[in-house]
Amino acid sequence: MSENHPDGFLRHPRRTIGYRDARSRARDYRQIYALEWDQNELSTQGQRCMDCGVPTCMGGCPIGNLIPEWNDLVYRGLWEEALARLHATNNFPEFTGYTCPAPCEPACTLASNDDAVTIKDIERAIVDRGWEEGWIVPRPPNERTGKRVAVVGSGPAGLAAAQQLNRAGHRVTVFERNDVIGGLMVYGIPDFKFAKHMVERRVQQLRDEGIDFRTGVNIGVDVPLAQLQAGFDAVCLAIGALRSRDVAVPGRDLDGILFGMEYLTAENRRQAGRPVDGVDDARGRRVVVLGGGDTGADCVATAHRQGARKVLQVSINPRPPEERPAHNPWPQQPQTYRRTYALEEGGEEAFSLNVAAFVDTDGDGRVDRIECERVDWNRDRHGRRTEKILRESGIGIPADLVLIAIGFEGPELAPLHDARLTITQRNVLETDERKMSSIPGVFVAGDASRGQSIVVWAIGEGRDVARQIDAWLMGTSRLPASLQTPNPPSPQRGL
Ligand SMILES: Cc1cc2nc3c(=O)[nH]c(=O)nc-3n(C[C@H](O)[C@H](O)[C@H](O)COP(=O)(O)OP(=O)(O)OC[C@H]3O[C@@H](n4cnc5c(N)ncnc54)[C@H](O)[C@@H]3O)c2cc1C
Ligand code: SF4
Repeated sequence: MSENHPDGFLRHPRRTIGYRDARSRARDYRQIYALEWDQNELSTQGQRCMDCGVPTCMGGCPIGNLIPEWNDLVYRGLWEEALARLHATNNFPEFTGYTCPAPCEPACTLASNDDAVTIKDIERAIVDRGWEEGWIVPRPPNERTGKRVAVVGSGPAGLAAAQQLNRAGHRVTVFERNDVIGGLMVYGIPDFKFAKHMVERRVQQLRDEGIDFRTGVNIGVDVPLAQLQAGFDAVCLAIGALRSRDVAVPGRDLDGILFGMEYLTAENRRQAGRPVDGVDDARGRRVVVLGGGDTGADCVATAHRQGARKVLQVSINPRPPEERPAHNPWPQQPQTYRRTYALEEGGEEAFSLNVAAFVDTDGDGRVDRIECERVDWNRDRHGRRTEKILRESGIGIPADLVLIAIGFEGPELAPLHDARLTITQRNVLETDERKMSSIPGVFVAGDASRGQSIVVWAIGEGRDVARQIDAWLMGTSRLPASLQTPNPPSPQRGL
């Protein structure tokens, strides 16, 4: 065991595992992050953690990961103990260790005037080592309660809910309409950002713990929701928020214009050797990605790998500032410009452009140009766009393939055919403080209740809904709460 160094941050600069070289990684589908990491270097990085009295980093992490604890354990070389502390709050640390935008890091105390601790990389290193060493094994429950729970949707929210409920002793069946388990972790997030074997080995762990998985079952279409309710003591809807927002302008029905999600899912399927029906790829094309967010970035990066001639990412918003504005101090998430991993690999970006029309100049039925206008926006006090101010019109952008990635409009409820489900003004499923929907015994978790979000929130939602379902079935629950649950079930059913 090493001697503790409370001034580690003064002696050691921040070092991250980092990324592979941008130009070379853009030619393949292997992960974009460096493949190797140095255990000693990460122990040193753990030493930079000051173990603050008020760990603001934990406030930045939606599941309240015990960051200072595992930083210290890694620093002291106690990796297996670090893994146990990581699993205490997070069912799938590799999902977050690879994909999380790490809101914990800007919230780290060091980030107020120095470089934050490399929290996300330490998380990834702990769980990578856990898999390598064989420390991650099935943990089936000792006894069964006799209750049955159906989880609909197998993204990170559904999988976290299933694992927690199973560990509480309930019999869990996960229903997924796709042909594979994993939700957006499999069909959405590109393979080079998150390798799919990491989902498969977790699903195997869950199977070995006793969870039953049914793929190719679209609840509402193949099995009515009411029938599911009749067969199970509780139902959890973790169906995501997968309804893509559209651009309703003239020319939208031309060929060569598709949702980013269709495009990304098709590439996930190609990489897995599964059939893909007639979805355009970017080879040799001038690609325009509409939307300045992370889904847009994944479209840009995929277009590079498919051999696009040119890639332009267009945002309706102005370019964010380089420095934090005064109204956005630490420990808030910085609203500053950051060049995405995708644009580091190539391509260009344009800001403050609004699409007015898609144009087919040669009459072959396929898009050739996008007509844009340069705009500013008046906004309300929440920063939402209220009124458009036109600065310039008639801006033409050549395009052979347009990918729409301007966000999502909530869960796909139409297939469920159930008028008893009510939605909020934000188009997500309405729930009470127990995460129960408008139908008694039907609970909601993940993007279906938050709107399109990030993986760590989905895992937290899954953990919380499991605790609520357990309490509803048993009167109390011994499952831990991950988020600030407004109405935690109490007293606990003894650990
Ligand atoms: C392209 C893209 C990239 C992203 N990249 C990141 C990232 O890098 N980092 C990050 O933190 N977050 C990222 N996100 C967000 C993250 O993936 C989601 O927030 C997260 O997956 C939500 O989890 P979920 O379990 O709520 O839903 P989902 O992962 O959306 O899973 C929902 C599942 O429910 C299934 N389903 C829906 N309806 C039914 C039905 N009626 N019957 C049966 N099954 C049904 C769907 O097929 C799907 O598999 C990304 C999102 C997208 C779109
Ligand atoms: S899950 Fe995300 S926010 Fe939480 S500690 Fe890990 S990287 Fe940070």
